[in-house]
Amino acid sequence: MHVFFQPAALSQKSVRRHYDATIARRVSFLDHERVIPGKAFRELSVSFPDGEACVWGVTPGQRGVNVSKARRIAKGDLAFFTGDKVAYLSGIVSAVWHSTPFAERLWGRDQLGQTWEWMYALDDVREHDILMDEVRAALGWKDTRNVQNLTLLVEDQGATMRALREARPGSSLSAALPAASGPDVAPSPARVVSAAVPGAGADVPAPSAGRITTGTCALCRGEVPDGFLVVAAIKTRGCSPQERGDPANVIALCTLGCESLFRLGYVAVDGGGIVVTSPQALEVPALRVHVERLALTGCEIAYRSLATAGYLAWHHARVFRDTAPLRLFET
Ligand SMILES: [Zn+2]
Repeated sequence: MHVFFQPAALSQKSVRRHYDATIARRVSFLDHERVIPGKAFRELSVSFPDGEACVWGVTPGQRGVNVSKARRIAKGDLAFFTGDKVAYLSGIVSAVWHSTPFAERLWGRDQLGQTWEWMYALDDVREHDILMDEVRAALGWKDTRNVQNLTLLVEDQGATMRALREARPGSSLSAALPAASGPDVAPSPARVVSAAVPGAGADVPAPSAGRITTGTCALCRGEVPDGFLVVAAIKTRGCSPQERGDPANVIALCTLGCESLFRLGYVAVDGGGIVVTSPQALEVPALRVHVERLALTGCEIAYRSLATAGYLAWHHARVFRDTAPLRLFET
């Protein structure tokens, strides 16, 4: 069983689009039976009885650089997705196959005219935030070494990464939104909310910086009465213990629209502190009304700290729906 690194930086728009299409959302492989080799289809059907799986693929690469490595990926292998200086996702390969038409249907072709035809499905998919600095240190790699292509690890390094995954199990991708409790959930919005409303939940300790006194929504800047403002967690998944309790990891949002739009990724704050709106919000009339009424797009927000800016960057990279609505299977 191999362990391999799959470079896939979500800061690249094309990668992000693929990730949203076939990892964040599962692929209904029953719709593609004719372009999936029989053995792989049977393996998929056994592993995913509901007919949906997280799917990824590898292009042949320039001069076929990836092909011999892609051929060695096998059922049971452990994949780590890497990019933007973190190993952010892992999963167990549950089926492997080669299909140009299937890959082209899912993702099209790249600028070389290639498609991600060496394909695999992942089970037990988990989100992590393991810094590549930590990975390099654990593997004894030089500080300058980066994962640029599909990289299969030698045996002892594979064992190291398996151990790292056990030690840092992250959070299951299927549990996409924060539950009320659990090992990997950021400050629970419900808990913090009660502490933020004067007179309510006085027995709940409030994070000092998360306490609301002004009643102003950070996104729409609306002054709202008590009860219409919540202190929402910004980074909600893959949090370290420090991040879970970090008072910088919260944002005060009104419940008149901003909280839901932010939590579900229809609005976010970009690296310049500017509120950005998802094309998906603008295409849904009911959401568009709210976005426009609140005059969110393009306004600049003031954050509490640089740490808060970091959490907002996580939200922008991982939660924000920055692509147009998917029309994956139209032909
Ligand atoms: Zn608001």
